[in-house]
Amino acid sequence: MLGFYDLQGRKDLPWQLNKTDYSVWVSEIMLQQTQVKTVIPYYLRFMQSFKSVEALADAHIDDVLKHWEGLGYYSRARNLHACAKQVVTQFNSRFPQTLTEIISLPGIGESTGGAILSLAYRLPEAILDGNVKRVLARVFLVDGWYGNAKVSQELWKISRKYTPNKRTGDFNQAMMDLGAGICNRSNPQCEICPLTKHCEAKQKNLTKEYPHRKQKKAIPMKEVTMLLDAKGSKILLHKRPPSGIWGGLWSLPEQTNLSHQSNQKSIKITGQFKHTFSHYHLKATVISPSKNQQKNYQIEDNSELAWHNVNELTKLALPTPIKKFLYKHFAIKEERL
Ligand code: SF4
Repeated sequence: MLGFYDLQGRKDLPWQLNKTDYSVWVSEIMLQQTQVKTVIPYYLRFMQSFKSVEALADAHIDDVLKHWEGLGYYSRARNLHACAKQVVTQFNSRFPQTLTEIISLPGIGESTGGAILSLAYRLPEAILDGNVKRVLARVFLVDGWYGNAKVSQELWKISRKYTPNKRTGDFNQAMMDLGAGICNRSNPQCEICPLTKHCEAKQKNLTKEYPHRKQKKAIPMKEVTMLLDAKGSKILLHKRPPSGIWGGLWSLPEQTNLSHQSNQKSIKITGQFKHTFSHYHLKATVISPSKNQQKNYQIEDNSELAWHNVNELTKLALPTPIKKFLYKHFAIKEERL
């Protein structure tokens, strides 16, 4: 694997140039469940705005979420912000250098902690991200879906056993690169893989069967009604609670955010959209009150509901489907940060 790293390992990704604990940490969090090519522009914009862990700790959470807009899994951004504050106040702006301490920080699990310690500090810690799990499940024919705790424990055992104490960061990087570029899920390139001779899945012609998949369950459909109310150049938006779906982002108010629902005759359907989360489909119907009925509903005494100028929508962090809907409705052009 080290030979593979020397010859073919990625060494010029933005977070690998002038590597620091901060750059490794930000990239590792962004790369969770997200591909490298998607992450690169987000990473570059993020680092341009928040150049250090101190700058990130000082930033407003809304600004951090705006930089995360479209990347999904927004708890990552909220944890990143909370973690930066803790690193600055409790660890003098350096990440702690033991696994026990580093995984006590918000949003840092054992694999991300191992990646920061091995890649930034050259410490001998193993990792087990999605790519490494796939490689190990194939090479050692590990049965079962790796979201299962027992399967995950088995994979951790293997990862720790084979992770070398020297050049650990290079080895971990090589495993991630192999999983991302060669041992991919649907079409592994076994003929150019450095592990071909050791790989049981390849030797037994079982690469299609491994890793075992999670048994698919039909995911439910959730239907919601959202309100699009515009007063002159202003629009009513609801800031979602910090945890849960779209946490901390600005969305259209759902009917549950209003104390009185509009009388059916006084509303018109403005549009509909669908979105799929990992555990349910969302079908949203967007309604608008008719002009002379706008005061039929009352807004709950809720400080998280606010009128925003339509011209300023580009500055707010919005969930992707809401953003698409509003940008289309108000003919707003996409602007990058
Ligand atoms: S030989 Fe094929 S299946 Fe096995 S690790 Fe390499 S690419 Fe993956």
